[in-house]
Amino acid sequence: MTNGPPRLPDLESARALDREDPLSRFRDRFAIPKGPDGGELRYFCGNSLGLMPLAVPDALAEECRDWGALGVNGHFDAKHPWYSYHDRFRDRGARLVGALPSEIVYMNSLTVNLHLLMVSFYRPEGSRRKILGEAPAFPSDTYAMESQVRFHGGDPATDLVQLAPREGETYLRDADILETIERDGAEIALVLFSGVNFYTGQAFDLKAIAAAAHAKGCIFGVDLAHAAGNLALTLHDDDVDFAAWCSYKYGNSGPGAIAGAFVHERHGKDPSLPRFAGWWGNDPETRFRMHLNETFIPHVGAEGWQLSNPPIFSMTPIDASLALFDEATMPALRERSKRLTGYLETCLATLGESVEIITPTNPDRRGAQLSVRFKSDPSAVRDALESAGCVCDFRPPDVIRVAPTPLYNTFEDVLSFVRVLAEVGAKS
Ligand SMILES: *Cc1c(COP(=O)(O)O)cnc(C)c1O
Repeated sequence: MTNGPPRLPDLESARALDREDPLSRFRDRFAIPKGPDGGELRYFCGNSLGLMPLAVPDALAEECRDWGALGVNGHFDAKHPWYSYHDRFRDRGARLVGALPSEIVYMNSLTVNLHLLMVSFYRPEGSRRKILGEAPAFPSDTYAMESQVRFHGGDPATDLVQLAPREGETYLRDADILETIERDGAEIALVLFSGVNFYTGQAFDLKAIAAAAHAKGCIFGVDLAHAAGNLALTLHDDDVDFAAWCSYKYGNSGPGAIAGAFVHERHGKDPSLPRFAGWWGNDPETRFRMHLNETFIPHVGAEGWQLSNPPIFSMTPIDASLALFDEATMPALRERSKRLTGYLETCLATLGESVEIITPTNPDRRGAQLSVRFKSDPSAVRDALESAGCVCDFRPPDVIRVAPTPLYNTFEDVLSFVRVLAEVGAKS
């Protein structure tokens, strides 16, 4: 028996894990960026901008050809008619987040969708005026929530409550969230959490939060920016009221890709819900009556929240990307993701005290990402990772967010990353 700290696995064992995993083959369907030396980068920023599926350029070229050849007739005569473009991937999109097809729509971008959904679902009244969220929140979400509060004549200092981890702890306790709702629920109009916190990587128990919120008469919405394409979500069954997500992170659909929105079936059927309307949210039966159609008749389901006809070129990559998720299936990807992130955790454990993982240790309470606080000099860590071809995200002063994604990262990527940290740690 040898004692002492565990040792980093060797390269051959990491490569063996890659060879044995049937989902490793999906990496070949992506463009992997190259470093200055011509080698493939070790890309851990799929939580920020996912890599490009190789099928995307041809799919875009096809839409351009149809536009050139058909002009306006492309709305109905294109290979994938633009008028009903969304029909192509509605089912796939629904599977990605565990929704009924009628509960989702792709439209706008994430922050826009949060606003549009809050128009319908944040309606402070009487003494029920608060929004409860988590801290730290992504700035765009905070701005959106603060401005919604002000729009309704409220004061964010009292009406926006962002629950922070306890002193000395790095992420929220499930019980603290549920107890806060239980205690203050009568004053809370909307509970709006992320599915996975962008900073700590904590995944929230959506089903439990939805139940606690509903028991107190609150609406529960979720920002899935870091959860869609990362967790095996079950939005419908969890009874989430509404959700929105971007498609360019784990969704691999390109910079600024069109975002998703989810509205639970029971709300989608309710034409009386106040909303900001546009012609694309109107019932298709009467949409093209144009000036003859004087009153807005909302489309049943999430599509009733659409405003404009969709930007086809920004929708095309979504279809190409969702096809890969469907082929691999989200539950299988999630299992592989747990193996990859578990491996990252095991490797990091060999570094001892020089790093601290601030993400939950329970695999069900996190997604692909680990957030790692390091003790070495930040610029030394940064330089070393960069020269080793590792692309990670630094959050000053001392946190790196590392997200091995199951569609294109490898066990070898993970080992290489930890080796770099080990070398910097050994020097300092
Ligand atoms: C990435 C991200 C956003 C980005 O918003 P956009 O409207 O797509 O620019 C917003 N909120 C969260 C939580 C995010 O992670």
